[in-house]
Amino acid sequence: MPKPGPSPKLEAVTTDIVAPSRWHVWLTSFRVWAPVLHALCLLVVFTGITKRAVVLAFCLYWARMFGMTGGYHRYFAHRAYRTSRVFQFLLGFLGCMGLERGPLWWSATHRKHHRYSDQPGDAHSPVQRGFWYAHLGWVAAVEQMETDLRLVRDLERFPELRWLDRYHWVSPVVGLVACYLIAGPSGAVLGGFWSTVALWHGTFSVNSLSHLVGTRRFATADDSRNHWLIALYTMGEGWHNNHHRFMGSARQGFRWWEVDLSYYVLRAFAALGLIWDIKEPPAHLLRDD
Ligand SMILES: [Zn+2]
Ligand SMILES: [Zn+2]
Repeated sequence: MPKPGPSPKLEAVTTDIVAPSRWHVWLTSFRVWAPVLHALCLLVVFTGITKRAVVLAFCLYWARMFGMTGGYHRYFAHRAYRTSRVFQFLLGFLGCMGLERGPLWWSATHRKHHRYSDQPGDAHSPVQRGFWYAHLGWVAAVEQMETDLRLVRDLERFPELRWLDRYHWVSPVVGLVACYLIAGPSGAVLGGFWSTVALWHGTFSVNSLSHLVGTRRFATADDSRNHWLIALYTMGEGWHNNHHRFMGSARQGFRWWEVDLSYYVLRAFAALGLIWDIKEPPAHLLRDD
């Protein structure tokens, strides 16, 4: 008679949810780094502002915004196009530089956001928990640091993505050192701290403001909204009601005038052969009738 093994149910629970270790919680927690990074911006009083540092900060904001929108969001979370394994890794590395943890954690949390939009279970719903929790509170909450691997099996199978997810702090450290080497102390403060704080508030405003402010073209089951200004500084993510209507699309601006910079960059990458099989919304969503 075979010996009874461990309960498969229990085993699944322990291997499917990855809880961060205690040191990991404190070393990478937003509770620590959100106030620290905001405070470090004040170092500009001592370093001054150089032209080279301003250009660097500007470039890093837009490059990393694309890492979040074209990489983490449209590729890793929604698989809205296909690419090579090397380019996939580069997108993940760029995404990590935005200091919003690794691609597995980010994608699992985001897929949950779509599954439970503005319902209990949504990690950052301003309707459920208020503006500040949806904006910054959720990412600082220790209970939100777990990664539910059941939601990201398609990504988990790549060892290099698991590595990026585990050591997501490596990429921003490399970025900070590069800022210092390129533009000195002013480069580190403007490129490393100012640009990151701006990037955080930009991307987090999609979680908070885009479920509160703007118009609703589609009567989705959540409170998602479209807003042109949010779309401008987030490279197209402000067309959030469009996105909730058809989340699998790489394109989020559904009209010619809905500027969607991430989509234009993705089209350029496709023209260069770096990515392919870009998913589009169905034609009836692109016109008023
Ligand atoms: Zn949303
Ligand atoms: Zn999404």
